[in-house]
Amino acid sequence: MRAVSSNILLDVSNVTKIFKIGGIYFGEKLTAVDNISLKFMDDKKIILSIVGESGSGKSTLAKMILGIEKPTSGSILYRGKDIFKLNKKERKDFRKDVQPIFQNPYESFNPLRKVDEYLYSTALSYLEVDRSSLEKVIEESFSIVGLDFERVKGKYPHEFSGGELQRVAIARALITKPHLLIADEPVSMVDATLRMSILNIFSELKEKLYSSIMYITHDLSTAYYISDYIMVMYRGSMVEYGNTREVLEEPLHPYTKILLESIPKPNPKLRWREEIKLSGLEVKEFEALGCKFSNRCANATEKCFKERPPEIVLNERKVCCWLYSH
Ligand code: ADP
Ligand code: MG
Repeated sequence: MRAVSSNILLDVSNVTKIFKIGGIYFGEKLTAVDNISLKFMDDKKIILSIVGESGSGKSTLAKMILGIEKPTSGSILYRGKDIFKLNKKERKDFRKDVQPIFQNPYESFNPLRKVDEYLYSTALSYLEVDRSSLEKVIEESFSIVGLDFERVKGKYPHEFSGGELQRVAIARALITKPHLLIADEPVSMVDATLRMSILNIFSELKEKLYSSIMYITHDLSTAYYISDYIMVMYRGSMVEYGNTREVLEEPLHPYTKILLESIPKPNPKLRWREEIKLSGLEVKEFEALGCKFSNRCANATEKCFKERPPEIVLNERKVCCWLYSH
């Protein structure tokens, strides 16, 4: 049993996050993340895309995995240990091993501090090396992202373009040689011209077995381009999971199908369509029973309105939909 679990880097199991919103007395509850499970292995580097429209719970899931938000229920184990119960040494290892990359690179840096100074102190706090080896470690991470560390020295964050600073943020994350990067919409604020080059860095990191990546996006085409696996989320729940090509070329869930409608195979270029955005009212109205997608699903039967669909496993794919239950 132990031998099997020992190569699991991160084990997210039935994680749910419920936020209380509104006033203290008449407040309502919002299930931002609903019973999500996923795993990253130590010895198998992958890129997993988490896709879903705005408000589907992607960032909340990322924050829980990073230990920033505590799940209401479920568990997140890092090398077999609950990430919220780590001792000091284990917490340091976890922070080294699981690094975040956020949407807005300017928020990753202190605007009043020179970028290189920040990098030195980050590196010093995690790595037990002297100043000269430190320089080498930082240069190494910069070469992975295609930047020259010399040219970064002495500059403040605002002296970089968004795309450049996001590369610096990735280089910073790589200093500790993490096994997993949690990248939450890392290219959505970056110029289109630089977007692909940043995504190519992710592909390379995985190819060279440096790091697995959880790539959060609302853009199906970039998910298709870089990821091995994909999880489609709808209002906090997983609706479909599997090999990215299989899911996007032959979607099973009616929601995934809607997302992909009118995209010429085999190269989905479409971004999320505006009309599928949910209004707040709809969300509240439809919190209770059944499949969350049933009120918008062309295939819905009476059962779909009454009972939550189970997770159905078909070979390596998973789909939460009554259509596939026999
Ligand atoms: P996404 O990243 O997919 O856009 P989020 O995880 O940011 O989605 O949000 C999921 C839902 O949870 C949204 O309805 C959002 O308003 C709500 N939410 C997120 N953070 C909080 C919070 N701290 N308090 C209350 N509600 C929140
Ligand atoms: Mg988000």
